[in-house]
Amino acid sequence: MELLEMYRENGVSREVYAFGETVLKTLAPRFAQLDAMAELNQGKVIRAMQENRVDAPCFAATTGYGYDDVGRERLERVYAHIFGTEAALVRPQITCGTHALTVALSANLLPGDELLSPVGAPYDTLQEVIGIRPSPCSLAEYGVRYRQVELLADGSFDYPAIRAAIGEKTKLITIQRSKGYATRPSFSVAQIGELIAFVKSVKPDVLVMVDNCYGEFVEALEPSQVGADMVVGSLIKNPGGGLAPIGGYICGTQACVSRCAYRLSAPGLGQEVGANLGILPSFYQGLFLAPTVVSGALKGAIFAAGIYEKLGFRVIPSASEDRHDIIQAVELGSEAGMRAFCKGIQAAAPVDSYVEPIPWAMPGYDSQVIMAAGAFVQGSSIELSADGPIRPPYAVYFQGGLTWYHAKLGILKSLQAMVDAGLVQL
Ligand SMILES: *Cc1c(COP(=O)(O)O)cnc(C)c1O
Repeated sequence: MELLEMYRENGVSREVYAFGETVLKTLAPRFAQLDAMAELNQGKVIRAMQENRVDAPCFAATTGYGYDDVGRERLERVYAHIFGTEAALVRPQITCGTHALTVALSANLLPGDELLSPVGAPYDTLQEVIGIRPSPCSLAEYGVRYRQVELLADGSFDYPAIRAAIGEKTKLITIQRSKGYATRPSFSVAQIGELIAFVKSVKPDVLVMVDNCYGEFVEALEPSQVGADMVVGSLIKNPGGGLAPIGGYICGTQACVSRCAYRLSAPGLGQEVGANLGILPSFYQGLFLAPTVVSGALKGAIFAAGIYEKLGFRVIPSASEDRHDIIQAVELGSEAGMRAFCKGIQAAAPVDSYVEPIPWAMPGYDSQVIMAAGAFVQGSSIELSADGPIRPPYAVYFQGGLTWYHAKLGILKSLQAMVDAGLVQL
């Protein structure tokens, strides 16, 4: 009764709330699985911090060149431990996920080398990095060639075509774990492992990089534990746990990570420089919280899937499928649907709740994009957010939520906005 009253005060009608509760009842077994995964990953993170003797001096600020930065070095050991890699580069100087991926690619590809994506087109912003869409300073401008093999119609790997695409010049293979702004399925770590084993059987010395954005802590293993030479991601997504205000990571072999450090700073300097400017407490504490935050976000994703599936929309993945990332796509079929959905998410936010999201031409994307986000950290998509390009099938990509209860409120308010706009009937 009190809950009903709270939701009413937050603009959620009795009907919308009741609809949500009906869906929620069917999800109890899934939620129990998510709790178990969070428990497992929490233990893994704590173990990594203990083994690397994280202590108060790790939280101290360094300035200038940042030589002998104990906190930075130990944080990188902690990441390497969690991801099961030789080395890690975890830095506030890495601006975002796209930057981390750019560093990883440009550090490990030289003029004349070929880059291959065996999983179809990469994430929108990567297309300019690679030069698929011409762009100043793209890899293409530096003489790195690119090839792509499409997924089969059912979303699986086209092994014969991948084998045919791997040639003498193929230096690096990029695999994007999450669907990004596409309505293909995201890949499980096991599937990625099979693909890596295949490409390495065709060409043993080829490097494999996995774009791990949105995938961290969703499963018990990370792609670096099934053969990837580098895994790359953003700290304002899963592993920052909502607290990291900036940053990116690259975990992988020492050889690959060293090159990334030389690319990020300068040849000859590498990993030895890079002051932390006092930001490390949020990196450590965010990482500590990340498994729980990710599990709350996954509950939100599954709840949204359950609701919109029941209303007849196509949702990817469905509420009953296994999860490999925190992204939930909902095909709303119209711009009006996308606007209403995003309006509801925005209205549920703790920050900027009074603004109404409208589509705009965001840098790095080739169609207009609508984004709902009321985040403590600008653009943070581990916080509750929804976005999508305004183009068929008019899918919104919903993700995040620092707490499950916030995600729940956001989803109920999105449904309320859809109901109020006459786009759905309960
Ligand atoms: C978010 C994302 C990126 C880019 O990250 P930014 O931090 O937005 O630059 C790259 N790949 C995938 C799959 C992503 O989800």
